[in-house]
Amino acid sequence: MIKSKCSGYFLAIGLFILSSPFRCQSQTLWDLAKQNRGLLKIATLFTAQNVRDHLSGDQGINNAMDWCKKTGVTHVFIESYRDGYTADRKTLENARDRFKKEGFEVSGCVTTTGIGKTSTGWRGISCYTDRPTQDQLQKIFEYTAAIFDEIMIDDFLFTDCQCEECVKARGDESWADYRCELMNKMARERILGPAKKVNPNVRIIIKYPQWYDDFHNRGYDIVQQTADYDRIWVGTETRDYDNPRWGRKVQYEAYYIMRWLGEIGGDKTGGGWFDPYGTTENTYVEQARQTVLADAKEMLLFCYGSLLRDTGPANVEKLRAEIPGLFDLAKLVRNKPIKGILAPKPPNSDADGEQYVFDFVGMLGLPLVPTAKIDAGAKAAFFSVHALQDSQFSGKLKNMLEAKKPVLITDGLANRLTGVNLEDKNLTILQVKGNPHNLLKLTREELKPIRDKLLAPFGIRFDAPNKVALYLLGDNCLVVENFNNESIDAVLEFSRSVRAQKTLVLPPEASAEVSCSGGKLEFSKIAPRTLVAVEY
Ligand SMILES: [Zn+2]
Repeated sequence: MIKSKCSGYFLAIGLFILSSPFRCQSQTLWDLAKQNRGLLKIATLFTAQNVRDHLSGDQGINNAMDWCKKTGVTHVFIESYRDGYTADRKTLENARDRFKKEGFEVSGCVTTTGIGKTSTGWRGISCYTDRPTQDQLQKIFEYTAAIFDEIMIDDFLFTDCQCEECVKARGDESWADYRCELMNKMARERILGPAKKVNPNVRIIIKYPQWYDDFHNRGYDIVQQTADYDRIWVGTETRDYDNPRWGRKVQYEAYYIMRWLGEIGGDKTGGGWFDPYGTTENTYVEQARQTVLADAKEMLLFCYGSLLRDTGPANVEKLRAEIPGLFDLAKLVRNKPIKGILAPKPPNSDADGEQYVFDFVGMLGLPLVPTAKIDAGAKAAFFSVHALQDSQFSGKLKNMLEAKKPVLITDGLANRLTGVNLEDKNLTILQVKGNPHNLLKLTREELKPIRDKLLAPFGIRFDAPNKVALYLLGDNCLVVENFNNESIDAVLEFSRSVRAQKTLVLPPEASAEVSCSGGKLEFSKIAPRTLVAVEY
């Protein structure tokens, strides 16, 4: 394991340079990142406006390359269009070639905002029922495909328009169905088809936003679109729960959505994407940890321009210090199936008062297995109203209860079930009361019996305060992460004797004591906002 004190500078020279504990210190972050790019790649994006402001001249490009190298960034996305602005072709081509020459991987990007007729809803979004808007969309992708062999589409490729033309075109369909069909058609006829005609080698990535419970309502048909596009990318920007403008998202959301879309996307899944808005250094790097814990192969730092101002520089400094440890975390995670409580959200399922409930349940120290499918073969499960999207659901639930498997369901789901014995001793009802944020108020004492019941099939018991997440990786690794602003103690008991040791702490300088005796693993003084990995 790398002892990670390295921050991108030459810290150690002389005799010790080749001895293994000092391996990292003898290396720049750029070298380390190049070495590890097959494991975990670090990327950034230059928006179309960043291209204009930072990549138009040699000095700006040199500064950008220097920043990337110091941040371990080996892959850059150079954007051609955003918010009605198209970056100059010669500037794009020059930047592309300079970065390539310096050893960077280079891709393009398009943000579909400010195109043609404006939607009656969300600002910057378009009405794609409108033909001239469709024509403009196509032109942007044709232009970009002539310059780049890979194009990311930022997460504004949806519509919430309810103009007269849209009302007429949808007829008797639901908005969700109409919009999904419309955006599928845009993908095939206005993006993928025309772009590949201009450049047969071009690969197009659709980046999904983090608001997974509303995808279908605004035209993201994740099953069809994942099949149609060449690759997918995932929004993991959870930011700061208490931030008045950007907040109300919990950190586990990044993990849930990255794993959930990772299963749907399979080999097509690229990376996760997060930004500095509404973050502090601590919540910024938590986004990186969640992205890597969820097995992303790449993390994209949005965006160069924003990371140079406001909270950006402090965030980047903290991230740089943590990058060697993030590579270690990626090694622990890679190729290990996760274990735990099945937590299914069927594609296009409605949340109906239980928006993003999975994220909150993950914060309770229940190790979840995010999935789109309800498999009654699971050892334990958590079900919310989303499960009703599966027409076989009640039969599957009955099968699990008959097999005496522990099942946790929301009160909202319990109210909608018929023919299920709610008194079954294997069934626990979680009081969400129509607002998943309520779950963050559950006390340690209230959580203990719920965890013990649900974790029994895995031969473990877990006792910790709220907002301490548990992840079970493969057969010999687990991660405990404290999201609280206070130090915490926790106990994890195995039903058998184990020998366990702490193998990684993030941030590297944080305190976290772990002791193991018999089958009992005691965590003491885990510092605020700290992750601890244990192998056994
Ligand atoms: Zn419209």
